[in-house]
Amino acid sequence: MTVVSSTPVSPGLKNIKTIRDFEITGKTIFLRLDLNVPLEKGQITDETRITAALPTVKYCLEKGAKLIIASHLGRPKSADDKQYSMEPVAKRLGELLDVEVVLMEEPSSEGVKHILYGHMRNQIICLENLRFDEGEVENRTDLAQSWAAYTDIYINDAFGACHRAHASIHALPELMQQKGIGFLIEKEIKMLDSLTDHPKKPFIAILGGAKVSDKIPVIEKLINVVDGFVIGGAMAYTFLKAQGIPVGKSLVEADKVKYAKEMIQRMEARDKTLLLPVDHITSTSFNDVTHMRLNPSVGIAENEMGLDIGPQTIKNYVACLSKAETIFWNGPMGVFETKEFSKGTFAVAETLAKNPGTKIVGGGDSAAAAVQSGYADKMTHISTGGGASLEYLQGEKLPGLEILRP
Ligand code: AMP
Repeated sequence: MTVVSSTPVSPGLKNIKTIRDFEITGKTIFLRLDLNVPLEKGQITDETRITAALPTVKYCLEKGAKLIIASHLGRPKSADDKQYSMEPVAKRLGELLDVEVVLMEEPSSEGVKHILYGHMRNQIICLENLRFDEGEVENRTDLAQSWAAYTDIYINDAFGACHRAHASIHALPELMQQKGIGFLIEKEIKMLDSLTDHPKKPFIAILGGAKVSDKIPVIEKLINVVDGFVIGGAMAYTFLKAQGIPVGKSLVEADKVKYAKEMIQRMEARDKTLLLPVDHITSTSFNDVTHMRLNPSVGIAENEMGLDIGPQTIKNYVACLSKAETIFWNGPMGVFETKEFSKGTFAVAETLAKNPGTKIVGGGDSAAAAVQSGYADKMTHISTGGGASLEYLQGEKLPGLEILRP
């Protein structure tokens, strides 16, 4: 008899175990999460990464596992850099789950073993910021050994950190026999695979943000899969310059103008859509809102720079995106951190929210924009890993995933 699985394994997850594959009751789980949330004066300003981690944490608690949660937070210079303490994150986790979260000052301390000894149900151990120990970013085996000494099963659910070969992502699972992924990574990979594995058509990728160079590998990966690209943000100006249009002081990557020119020709040759801005919101410099104005034509004056897409461009982009069945979005349409230059980015978020198709938002700034727009719950998926999702999509092997394959 042939048994056919009803949920085929996503290509990127082949031979990787998930937490469901282990008998975890009573076992000590080292759960690597990405709880790297933005903080302002000790307050969490966006808890998306915490809530995204909850399904795996809840599953472990329901099954009666002894849970050790580990994450990095920001880029501390040393263990004394207390503004990066996991304390607010541990506190919020406790509130959201209604459990006791014990914060361990020293991630590699013997104290963990003692707490595990008297471990109670509904108690979680949270290690202090992994980057307080330089062994983490140095991927040091001695640090990993100190964790492995009390770990039965290693689970990685830190998608946003999978592209980094750090001790908790790489050296530790290298030492472990029993290792796998949690529900978040499973979802992230399935979603990203769905973009390159027979996506529903039309498939449009929206690319924006500061630099063309950052997006070239993903353009190359998607150029044969998508029906069109919608380009905004500063990267659009390199494309306009390639068409000989004056762009004033707008950010342009001079060494990528040739690439942009060729890409426009390649899209034409494939008879695919490539939408670029036809009008702009401009000013004389980044933070100068007093000289902000609508530039109703495509060319920009010498002393001005494009900082957001204009109303006609928004109309064109909305018309194209409304017809798409699959949308991938990475990068804002303008300097959205400044309210005056945020209209284009939020119009894209709203259009995606209204589109009933599949809408996948890459991490980083577009994820933040989707959350700020108030439409986060209308997206099919918002990736928790900006760098990791782009690297995965462009076909690079993520060290944190590869080490989990036999
Ligand atoms: P990235 O990390 O490449 O996605 O770029 C995000 C950054 O691009 C944000 O901080 C935006 O403020 C910036 N950005 C977007 N549009 C523009 C623009 N027209 N000019 C300059 N910076 C921009």
